[in-house]
Amino acid sequence: MRIATITNWAYATTVCLTIAAGITMVLASSADRVERAAVKQRDVFDELTFEVEDDISQLSDRARLFAISADPAHAAVYQQTLAGLGSVEKRVGKLRDNGAGAEELQALHEGLHLAKGLEDEQQAAMAAKIAGDGDRARALVFGPEYERELERVRSRLGHFRYVLDQRSDRAIEDASFASQRLRTVSEIMVAITAILFLFVLGFILKHRILRPVVTLSDVINRLADQDYAVETPLFSQVDEIGDMAQAIRIFRENGLVRQKLERQRDADWQVREMLARMTQRLQGCESVSDLFTVVRLFAPVIAPDLAGRLYILDNRIDLMVCAAEWQGPRGTDAAFGPDGCWALRRGQIHSPGGEMVDVPCGHVASEATQATICVPLTAQGETIGLLVLENRVAAREPDASTSAYIELMSETVGLALANLNLREALHEKALFDSLTGLRNRHDLDEKLRKLVLGAEASGLPLGCLMMDIDRFKSLNDRFGHDAGDLVIRAVAGVFGGVMRDEGLAFRYGGEEFLMLMPGFDEQQAMARAALIKERIGELELVHEGTALGPVTVSIGLAVYPWHGPAQSLILTADAALLRAKEEGRDRIVVASRRQRSAA
Ligand code: GH3
Ligand code: MG
Ligand code: MG
Repeated sequence: MRIATITNWAYATTVCLTIAAGITMVLASSADRVERAAVKQRDVFDELTFEVEDDISQLSDRARLFAISADPAHAAVYQQTLAGLGSVEKRVGKLRDNGAGAEELQALHEGLHLAKGLEDEQQAAMAAKIAGDGDRARALVFGPEYERELERVRSRLGHFRYVLDQRSDRAIEDASFASQRLRTVSEIMVAITAILFLFVLGFILKHRILRPVVTLSDVINRLADQDYAVETPLFSQVDEIGDMAQAIRIFRENGLVRQKLERQRDADWQVREMLARMTQRLQGCESVSDLFTVVRLFAPVIAPDLAGRLYILDNRIDLMVCAAEWQGPRGTDAAFGPDGCWALRRGQIHSPGGEMVDVPCGHVASEATQATICVPLTAQGETIGLLVLENRVAAREPDASTSAYIELMSETVGLALANLNLREALHEKALFDSLTGLRNRHDLDEKLRKLVLGAEASGLPLGCLMMDIDRFKSLNDRFGHDAGDLVIRAVAGVFGGVMRDEGLAFRYGGEEFLMLMPGFDEQQAMARAALIKERIGELELVHEGTALGPVTVSIGLAVYPWHGPAQSLILTADAALLRAKEEGRDRIVVASRRQRSAA
């Protein structure tokens, strides 16, 4: 049952009980009045009865005194009293008027008639006395007959008074009892009303004040501990507690908003830190494969709801090729032509999943179109790659902050990729010979140092060939510099075919080449040198329609550890080459022990 219903019922009951108690009080007071009236009536009856008795006694006494003394004063008083009495009916009527009942008046009536009879006796006695017959007069008022009659009169009047007293006492008793009972009922009702009032008061205090205050205090404590998950009570009451509950509810809602903003700010800060860290790591990348690793690692943290692929433009085949992917994207091809992507065509972010209609990219599966964002990676106006991001949660656009992060990330990745491309291009330029594609002398020192350390540590041999094209100056003179370049390129091309991945070939100088062959002993090195020489001998080169004739090379061969220490291996091989030239060219000369000791 609702509190309001209970309190309403309690109020109604209290009001009813109070009214009933009031009525009972009024009734009790009325019973009191009845009691007082009964007492008063009894007093009136007593007085009237006493008057009647007094008159009868007075007449009898005066008559007797006159009969004895014949004093006229007594006769005068007698006559005066008798004159004041009036008739029997008049005296009875006086009592009837005061409420005496018919049965009661009957006794009085009888008494008065008897008294009337006595008056005759008295008057006869007084007449006898006046007549001088004193004996008869005394015999009449003092005789036994007279005494009996007088006694009967007294008895009748006594009975009359008795009956009246009985009735009056009963009426007083009844009124007193009724008054007492009504007072008791009234007191009980007042007591019940008081108890009910206290109960209602206690109930209201508990349910409307104490309990809500305890609940609100609990909520306030939890809110003070920043526990905004606490449910605020919904008090509909229109009072201070209702106002407090409303204020606490607003405070909690504000707290929730503030907490959400703080969380967003923290998350934002974290993502920014991640972006900064990613930028730092990208700057530290030595190669594009390092870059792919960094992107694969950081992209899911920066935009957790997005799966993605990083595409690099492969100029050789003119395709965007997937170089890295994270969080399992499914809606886009692993490789596609740059023309298939609208972001690459326009050089801008392309996300057809918004509310506005837009053209889907050809490399995106139709069911993933709504969830895909293409971000071009450009450097100095040139497209170098593409980020394709796929929303994993729902087909909706990422929020503003995520879009900003994506833009920042794409800029950072694009810049880092451009730097690495540039660095690799420079590196290539610095370490590789542009004419032949072979490593140049700048790279030789580093490679030689590593191979020598490896050979010394492992105890395995390290073969070395120093080669020089014979009479190349003359070839240049006869056919021109371009023809000379053609010969140099052709000779360099032989090395790759003969050695594959077993050795490192360097362009040592103009038409001089160096070959390092880790793990090759003298015999193996000699076999390869012979093969190289043979393949070069087989070359049939034509420049601008003119056959350039046979090309021969001289080769100096040295092997660590047989022909000297690893550090002087090149010098030893060069000395062997010099000897090959001296001995007539187009030959292979193995370094001698003498040369090793000289080195
Ligand atoms: P030898 O048999 O003793 O080695 O005689 P050679 O003519 O080869 O003698 P040398 O080594 O003195 O001559 C090398 C010539 O190669 C000199 C230079 O003009 C030419 N040369 C050097 N680098 C290049 C190049 O990149 N291209 C062309 N076409 N010629 C080059
Ligand atoms: Mg030379
Ligand atoms: Mg030469």
